[in-house]
Amino acid sequence: MQLRRAAVLGGGPGGLYAARLLKLAYPACDVVVHEQGDPDTTFGFGVGLAAGTQRKLAAADPDTLRDLVAAGRRHDMTMRVGGRVARVRNDRLIGIARTELLAVLRQHAEKAGVRLEFGARRTADELDADIVLAADGVSSATRESGPFGGRIESGRGLYLWCGTDFALTDAVFAPVRTEHGVFVTHAYPYSGGRSTFLIETDEDTWRRAGFDSSTEATPVDASDEKSLRYLENVFAEQLRGRRLIGNRTRWLRFRTVRCDTWSAGRTVLLGDAAHTAHFSIGSGTKLAMEDAIGLVEALREEPDRAAAFARYETVRRPAVERLQELARRSRLWWESFPSRLHLPVERLMVAYMSRAGNVPLDRFAATSPDVVGAALEQFAGGPGPADPAAVTDWVLRHGTGRGGGNLVTIDEAPTDPWDGTGDAVVARARRAFDDGAEGFLFTGPPGRSALLTRLDLAERVRTEVGGPVVVEGPAALRDDLAAGLVSGRTDLVTLVNDPAGNPGRNS
Ligand SMILES: Cc1cc2nc3c(=O)[nH]c(=O)nc-3n(C[C@H](O)[C@H](O)[C@H](O)COP(=O)(O)OP(=O)(O)OC[C@H]3O[C@@H](n4cnc5c(N)ncnc54)[C@H](O)[C@@H]3O)c2cc1C
Repeated sequence: MQLRRAAVLGGGPGGLYAARLLKLAYPACDVVVHEQGDPDTTFGFGVGLAAGTQRKLAAADPDTLRDLVAAGRRHDMTMRVGGRVARVRNDRLIGIARTELLAVLRQHAEKAGVRLEFGARRTADELDADIVLAADGVSSATRESGPFGGRIESGRGLYLWCGTDFALTDAVFAPVRTEHGVFVTHAYPYSGGRSTFLIETDEDTWRRAGFDSSTEATPVDASDEKSLRYLENVFAEQLRGRRLIGNRTRWLRFRTVRCDTWSAGRTVLLGDAAHTAHFSIGSGTKLAMEDAIGLVEALREEPDRAAAFARYETVRRPAVERLQELARRSRLWWESFPSRLHLPVERLMVAYMSRAGNVPLDRFAATSPDVVGAALEQFAGGPGPADPAAVTDWVLRHGTGRGGGNLVTIDEAPTDPWDGTGDAVVARARRAFDDGAEGFLFTGPPGRSALLTRLDLAERVRTEVGGPVVVEGPAALRDDLAAGLVSGRTDLVTLVNDPAGNPGRNS
């Protein structure tokens, strides 16, 4: 389509990248970014950019990617529990300071000829343009005041985003048990002298530590110093005695944003304004920048605005919703993380990698043979196969069976095994156990989503009530069942033939 003037609301990663791509595609178009903040006072610490995202950015705009990679810091991932460490190599994962990311994107936007206006809060309606790209973030006023059907779901857990003034060698996931409960950090380096510390906890622990009152007492433009000082002690080992630095740091609940539609008239939403995905899959920046690529491609391909916006949504929505579903499972896993601290660190790493059903066990075995090898040995009491392709069958040989004795069948499938319906299943299982049940058989629909949820529910019952638990699933989903066994979600699995012809893990 033809474009003379385009306005971008919001100078975050989504808005800045869209502005540059738009200007490169339409050199004669006047492209203006309106950002309420000042370029030197952006908030936040580091964000991660994974290999897949880098490949997409390389195809869309190699110049920008080159500078982002140069400003970032590559790191591996480690999990540390009870003095033991499991390490996963990750050749292309980088952490980059949000300030650096935005500086690079601003520079490239200006180089392409985009005008940047800072320091005034604007509304989509007041901007004079053929199209308005609303990239105004998770609290988007455009979404809230427009006909987009926006909905927000808040997570149960609480998180706090802060940093420290030295660079960790690797990304680290470390839980620490305190007198108030468990706190977990996901920390990673993002520059020569800085690391992000993202810290999570559950509501009960948060209240017991008195953080409900410290949150309330912290003004919006300040940091919750009481929490930071407490957490400095909790994570003293990971921090090597250094301080935690806040930047408008306070406890928050993650908000998952969904919309019925992403466009109305001349206005189109992108990035966090349109959708969010829990930070534990590190995808917010990726989604915002990939939206920018998809939107500009659609504008180039279609003859008019309505067709372009429709194409953008048709192309992007399935990818976004798939990631939102992975993020939902990942969020539930992290929110229930303390219940898994009894697992040896290698099995915990397998549980982490398979938490959302996105990394098959055999693929993980191929890239991290030492971690998976140790986990298989812990699971079966003897060494597993050297060939990663043989891992799934080997695990299933050790963990397939119907269990003996008096098993109680559970066929409920709540979407969230940790919600009220999940609580009711656990209460019923506990009563059955007290009445002499010797274990539980989890059965239900053959679809993949239902099986993954069944494995989560089985894990909850196994941990909170006792086992053995047996999970039934279609033979086509053997990878998920094998990962469930090694991760301690179930004691045994039963394979059934799937008459509906379940297509397997890639479905
Ligand atoms: C704890 C945490 C950790 C995260 N970690 C990662 C990670 O590891 N990897 C990752 O990819 N993502 C991560 N994210 C997510 C990431 O920060 C966001 O998803 C990403 O910044 C979204 O980009 P955006 O451009 O859509 O919105 P934003 O970055 O939020 O930018 C929106 C911009 O719009 C401006 N604005 C808003 N309203 C107006 C207005 N009315 N007028 C003018 N300007 C306005 C704001 O000032 C802001 O600059 C994390 C998020 C959180 C909360």
